[in-house]
Amino acid sequence: MIRVIILGCTGSIGSTALKAIRENLAPLQVVGLCAHSHAESLASLAKEFGAEAVCLTNGAHYECTNARTYRGFSGLQQMLKELDADIVLNAIAGFEGLKASLISLGQGFDLALANKESVVCAGSFLFEVARANNRRIIPVDSEHSAILELLKGRSRESVDSLILTASGGPFRTMEKERFSSITTEQALAHPTWKMGRKISIDSATLANKALEVIEAAHLFGFDGDHIEVVIHPQSIVHSMIRTTDGAVYAQLGNPDMTLPIINALTEGSRNLVKRLDFTKLSLHFEAPDYQRFPLLDLAFSILKRKGATALAFNAADEVAVGAFLDGSISYLRLIEVVQRTVEENWDEKIHDFDQILALDAKARDIARRHL
Ligand code: NDP
Ligand code: MG
Repeated sequence: MIRVIILGCTGSIGSTALKAIRENLAPLQVVGLCAHSHAESLASLAKEFGAEAVCLTNGAHYECTNARTYRGFSGLQQMLKELDADIVLNAIAGFEGLKASLISLGQGFDLALANKESVVCAGSFLFEVARANNRRIIPVDSEHSAILELLKGRSRESVDSLILTASGGPFRTMEKERFSSITTEQALAHPTWKMGRKISIDSATLANKALEVIEAAHLFGFDGDHIEVVIHPQSIVHSMIRTTDGAVYAQLGNPDMTLPIINALTEGSRNLVKRLDFTKLSLHFEAPDYQRFPLLDLAFSILKRKGATALAFNAADEVAVGAFLDGSISYLRLIEVVQRTVEENWDEKIHDFDQILALDAKARDIARRHL
């Protein structure tokens, strides 16, 4: 049995992981669980899965009679120090997930990483921490999980570019003139994936794909000139690679996060997802429209600028999406807030976590001024 600690266990990714474990799809044993605010769900999951320890990161007092309890991020650090496990699944949403990634690597755990913000915000610093602790970072994001599989057994020199697919979100075919009247409900209604609220909005603006372009660059060592994005509304092709001989290799499957999550935690699990009948498929691809979705275009200029621009992009996006979700700004204002924040000077090279925290706070201040 592989002993796993699941952070963000009450969210979309955390629940998918736990469902797969509940259904015995993989040889995984839950030893630790962490949530932020849903104390009752945390306690009931601890009971159901027989977790040895649990942590609630918002610091509130809570009851859990079946497991050792911890609170806050200092509590999470203590829990990881004391637990014997093989791997941590980080499925926390947002920038706060970075702290959890660094704690997990620092405590000597391999990291199955859904929290793409960790890679985007810390960049090479995160990989230095992994290297210093001799630990692996395995991506959970479906596109990156697909690329990881496609790159196996190939030399870096034999691969020309990575091709990330994107569903295009709910506004793929909407005329730009109508963007001013987009509602939160429309933006949350993703056509192919069921996900948490923040990532659903990011999928509507294509900011999610922007984060994933940056994530791919760091994970696989490709610059922006060798990363392509193609819109693929069916979300069946999870990503592709283009080799230097001109061939293209793809990974296909039904849109279901079970496969990338369990593949990041185990090897050789069987029958994880519904068998794909490709004879029934009609697949469509189109170029992204960077005019209507400028945040995606921004990812490529961010990769050229380096420094802390990606961190600023993420912070501004979190602030703007939060304001859009609570109804205080429009969809178009959301885009503008991110663009304006990124326009500032973010050339500082990242070298430690305190600096990351300071830069994130600064970017959030600037973004709030643009709301
Ligand atoms: P959800 O919003 O559904 O869940 C977020 C989880 O993180 C919850 O367990 C929540 O706890 C916890 N959490 C929220 N805020 C904090 C915080 N400040 N500190 C610690 N824990 C916190 O998100 P998703 O599952 O959709 O996404 C999680 C991550 O995975 C994101 O980084 C996302 O980009 C990435 N991802 C998601 C995919 C998906 O299909 N959903 C696909 C690919 C990547 P609580 O509920 O107790 O408040
Ligand atoms: Mg993805």
